[in-house]
Amino acid sequence: MLPEPAPANRLKGKLVADWVVVGAGVTGLAAARRLAELEPHSHIILLDEYRVGYGASGRNSGLIIDTPHLTEELDVSSNRCMSRLLIAGLAELEGHVTKHSIECEWSPRGHLSAIVDGKRAKKELQNTCRMLDAVGEEYQCLDRDALADVVGTRHYHSAVYTPRSVLVNPAALCRGLADTLPDNVDVYEESPVRRVEPGSPVRIDCVEGSIVAAKVLLTTNAFIPKLGFLRREVFPLIECVSLSRELTEEEQAAMSGAPDWGVAAYVTMRRTLSNRILIRHGTYYSGEFRLSQDMRRRLEVSHRKGLSKRYPMLDKLDFEYVWAGVFCMTRNWASYFGRLERGIFAALGYAGVGLPRGTISGKLLAEFASGHGSDLMSDVQAISGPKRLPPEPFLGLGVAARLSWHRWRSRAEW
Ligand SMILES: Cc1cc2nc3c(=O)[nH]c(=O)nc-3n(C[C@H](O)[C@H](O)[C@H](O)COP(=O)(O)OP(=O)(O)OC[C@H]3O[C@@H](n4cnc5c(N)ncnc54)[C@H](O)[C@@H]3O)c2cc1C
Repeated sequence: MLPEPAPANRLKGKLVADWVVVGAGVTGLAAARRLAELEPHSHIILLDEYRVGYGASGRNSGLIIDTPHLTEELDVSSNRCMSRLLIAGLAELEGHVTKHSIECEWSPRGHLSAIVDGKRAKKELQNTCRMLDAVGEEYQCLDRDALADVVGTRHYHSAVYTPRSVLVNPAALCRGLADTLPDNVDVYEESPVRRVEPGSPVRIDCVEGSIVAAKVLLTTNAFIPKLGFLRREVFPLIECVSLSRELTEEEQAAMSGAPDWGVAAYVTMRRTLSNRILIRHGTYYSGEFRLSQDMRRRLEVSHRKGLSKRYPMLDKLDFEYVWAGVFCMTRNWASYFGRLERGIFAALGYAGVGLPRGTISGKLLAEFASGHGSDLMSDVQAISGPKRLPPEPFLGLGVAARLSWHRWRSRAEW
């Protein structure tokens, strides 16, 4: 939906820098910015294999959620750490959007955690409310009628509404963040890193050039095993999204409800400020990060089915975009944060809440690697530490079994 970016500035030849950040998603953008603030006289290079935000950071559902949503996976103390980090990540993004007037459909609408299946609704909503009480978060419970007034469908049984979350166009957000980086950050795109050699200095080999730098931060999300790190700690999950064309005036009238909203459940749905419907549904485990044409067609059919189940009045609505993005998963939902080897640091692995968590983790990683403290450092460290993964084929079998179980539990939604 965004205009074509200007041609990429590619890394060529041999360069020297104080810091290199590899990966220009929200984590890398936050890390590069923070380094530049802490060390205004240092030369910082931010690199990406593609373009800024072309990874998950620009391809997600655009919910900047300020509350932990993994109620079943984490204990109360971890949820409290998560909550503080998410609130700080959201505030960080809000600060940059406001200061630099970044146009990204920023909408402080809150978000809805909805339940479809009446039998499970009570228990699941109680779990969510218990966790929100424990972290001291404000919320409101909505029954089917109250929810239908917002989202224009009676498909959902009920929901918990948390008012502080923000809805956004994530690609526009990433581009705006990159355009407003401090002057001592040089951004190189279409510059894949092929090798990072630890040491003092660290050597970074790209396809068309190389850099020697005092320190390197790896913010490459699920792609880090390709650089030889965390091979048995993280794995990719492919998540799929469709975005409709703009709703016509008749469709808007037929649909009713609020002009924008975001529902996170097994399936994420949004009505965006640009008057489109977004659906995120379909999770795959595969070493192949790209969607085939056949897969794209099947997804479109499946997303259309989900749309007509919720909004039969939108039966003529086409999807203009269908795409996939990569979640970085760990076995125990813990992220990775810290020093990997001499001169090399990394922050990654946020599953589905990476916009605020990636932002704050990137900022904190810059502080950690440059020897600065922060009140939030103990929080990010407390929820880090991925458990070791089993080798293949056991990993693949385990992930497939878990995804099937999750699909079965959420069968009422689709
Ligand atoms: C479909 C989908 C929906 C989601 N919905 C939400 C949501 O609503 N809210 C939310 O908070 N989170 C959501 N997430 C999760 C969130 O998008 C991610 O957790 C977050 O964007 C991760 O940010 P990151 O900067 O760590 O990684 P990324 O955005 O993946 O950035 C990593 C970057 O590293 C680059 N890179 C990798 N390897 C190399 C290399 N060798 N050389 C150079 N560059 C390299 C990549 O090109 C990429 O740009 C969603 C994710 C997906 C896929």
